[in-house]
Parts: sequence; structure tokens; C-alpha cells
Amino acid sequence: MFENLSERLSGVFDKLTKQGALSEDDVKTALREVRVALLEADVSLPVARDFVKAVGDKATGQAVTKSVTPGQQVVKIVHDELVHVLAGDEGEIGTLKVDNAPAPILMVGLQGGGKTTTTAKLAKRLKEKQGKRVLMASLDVYRPAAMDQLKVLGEQIGVDTLPIVPGQKPADIARRAKQQATMGGYDVYMLDTAGRLSIDDALMAEVEEVKAITTPRETLLVVDGLTGQDAVHTAENFDGRIGISGVVLTRMDGDGRGGAALSMRAVTGKPIKFVGLGEKMDALEEFHPERIAGRILGMGDIVALVEKAQETIEAEQAQRMIKRFQKGQFNMNDLKMQLEQMQKMGGMESIMGMMPGMGKMAKQVQDAGFDDSIIKRQIALVNSMTKKERANPALLQASRKKRIAAGAGLEVAELNKLLKMHRQMADMMKKMGKMGKGGMLKQAVK
Ligand code: GDP
Repeated sequence: MFENLSERLSGVFDKLTKQGALSEDDVKTALREVRVALLEADVSLPVARDFVKAVGDKATGQAVTKSVTPGQQVVKIVHDELVHVLAGDEGEIGTLKVDNAPAPILMVGLQGGGKTTTTAKLAKRLKEKQGKRVLMASLDVYRPAAMDQLKVLGEQIGVDTLPIVPGQKPADIARRAKQQATMGGYDVYMLDTAGRLSIDDALMAEVEEVKAITTPRETLLVVDGLTGQDAVHTAENFDGRIGISGVVLTRMDGDGRGGAALSMRAVTGKPIKFVGLGEKMDALEEFHPERIAGRILGMGDIVALVEKAQETIEAEQAQRMIKRFQKGQFNMNDLKMQLEQMQKMGGMESIMGMMPGMGKMAKQVQDAGFDDSIIKRQIALVNSMTKKERANPALLQASRKKRIAAGAGLEVAELNKLLKMHRQMADMMKKMGKMGKGGMLKQAVK
């Protein structure tokens, strides 16, 4: 999968990483090529546009890291953005909710998408990797061959199938499956619904009924990854009508483009949980955004190199800061860095939310009118100071204060508050610095 896209992108970045310095034009040209590559891979236009914009913003906003070239840094940014576009929330990928036995899993999709094959692949996986007892049932009453197909696959992988009763309606088969799964002590039962050539009302109504009867733990849409944007539209449709919990993209063994995978999450908000990579029963893989992004870019070495360089620099910076704080040096630049750090971590509330016992305090802070716009204003105030003033806030007399406040479009009172906060923090830093090398401060800086 992704061969074509991968080739195109590595062409773009090979050129970029060979250059020592990058001009804005170099980056622009590269991004234009990335955009074309994405569109050719059948990534939807809005997703491609957002992708390129996000990379562009990050590339211009980021300070150049020592010991890597700007081109290498751009590769890393593209990599991270790929992961972002592909990723679902943690715990969503490659896992199925199968607690509370018997857990129903509803399989839906269009005809020929690979639904029956995937049902059996997943059953095999649940059996072998999680030791689950699985029952599979075909609800495809329109094509007797589909029922037989599931039975044959079941025999092949050693998973039970619900006995076929000719003439039964899908809803009745679903009830029977539920009953048999409960009585037979199965952990999971999988319902392979009938597909259609295209989405129609009767199909949806049928699936809705089955869903109401069984309340599935997972409703998985199986779509052919080769159909690119059509796969994404199908997912939107199914999700809008019956609600899906995840997607399995099949035939990714044959796709040199992979656009469906890249657009799916961004357009539908639903995670790709697995990818089908062939007709064999083992040809199913968990969908790992990191790994996939790595495969698309094929530049794992560069990504690792940039990560390492960035970590080293952060550690060096932290060390330098600790030394200065210990000497009681805490100027406005340091304050600004702390404020920016807070912003990066998602603002006051989210930082406090992360600390045990701070939830209540977060509320008090909020009630006191301290919200994240204050952080923004405080940063604006520091930005409005001259270099000298930042290094030595003692210089700030009335006229300077007026100029700074005006420059940030704020009142002097607000600047005074900031200066007071700075003094308190400087005191605290000094005390903490004296508490021994590293210690609390080291943690605080990290
Ligand atoms: P359904 O109509 O949705 O149930 O589709 P089937 O499960 O019958 O699959 C249709 C065809 O696609 C079969 O020949 C499968 O072997 C094939 N197929 C399913 N998944 C994959 C896959 O991931 N890769 C490849 N190459 N073929 C697949």
C-alpha cells in the first residue's frame, strides 16, 4: 500500500534534505508538490489542503534545530502531521470491544467490499490472539452462496457458524444468533449482514433493525480501500444512517495510492481499526498510524534523527535554565517561556486537570477570572518590551510601562500584575534553586 504516494513524497524530500539552508520558496515549492502527491493518491481536496497548511504553519513557526538540516526538520513535521491525520483516539485502533459476553459485533458494508472475508479474519484473530469463543452468523438471505461462504470459512479457521435455516429473515437470524451465543457460552458473536451494490433504504432499514435487536458493541464498516474517496463517502453514509464505531479498509495490498486511509479519519471522524492485506485468513493487520506514516514517508531515519536532536536541545535548554534560576536569575524571557509552555500544554485548566488534587483549584482559578486569554495577553506584554527590559525588568519605570502597555493594547494595571507575578516567581525559583541541585525545579522545568 501507499507505494505511489511514498515514491512521490520521497522524491520531494530527497531534494529538500540535501540542501543546507532552505528558503521560504523552497518550502513552498515542496509543499505544493506534497499537495499534488496527496491529490494523486486520491486524498480529498479539503484534507490535502488542511494538511499542507498545517505543515506550512509549523514549518515557519518552528525554530531551526541545531545539527539537523531544515529539510530534515520539514520531513519530521510532515511525518507528525501524517500521524495526526491517520490517528484515532488511543485505544481505538486494532482493538475491539468484546467485554460482557456474548459481545455482538455487527459487520456492515457494500457487496464485494470484503465483509464476509473480514468477518472470518476477525473471528480467527479473536480466537487466536484473545482466546475468545466466537460464533459467526450470516444474515445475507438474498445470496445463499454468501451463507455457504461463511460456513466454509468457519470450518477452515475452526470457528462455529450459526446453522443455516432457509427462509428466515435477517432479524430472526439475529435473534437466533443472540440466543445461541448466550446459551452456548460464546464470548463474541459476529453478524455478517447482506451487502448491496449501492446504499439503499431497504438495506439500511434492515441493518437498523438488526442493530436494535442486538445492540452491538462494535459496528464495523468494511470498505474496499481501492475505491478511494468512494470508500470515504460510503463511510459517511453508513455512519450518518446507522452509526459505525470503526472502519476496516480492505484490499490495501493492492493500493498504491492509499488516499482512503488518509481521508477517512479527517472526513468521518471514525477510526480505521484494521486493514485487509490479502485474501488469506491471516492477511489482516492492526492499523497503526505511526507505522503507516513511517511507511508512507519511508524516512524513519530522518524522523528519529530530528527527534533526538530536539530532545537534546530541550534538555540543554532546561539545564541552562536551572543553572540560571539557581543563581536567582529569572527574567522576562524566562517568564515568557514558562507562559508559552503553559499554552503548549493546553492552558491553565488542562495543566491543573493533569495534576492530582488540582481539579478544584482549577475551578477556583477560573472563578477568579484567570482564563487562558490572560496568558495570551501576558505574552503580548512581554513581546512589547525591549530586549534590555526583558533581561532586566528593574528598568521598568512609569514611562516605559505606559509604552509597553500601549504597545500590547492593554492597561498599565495589567502590566503591574504581570510584574508582580514575575517577582513572586523569581523568588520562588530562587528558593527552589537553593533546595539542592535539580530536585523539584528539574521536574518543574521538564
Ligand atoms: P463481501 O461481499 O463484502 O462479503 O465480500 P467478500 O468477503 O466475499 O470478498 C470479496 C472478494 O474480495 C473475495 O474474493 C475476497 O477474497 C477478496 N478480499 C477481501 N478482502 C481482501 C483484501 O484485503 N485483499 C484482497 N486482495 N482481497 C480481498
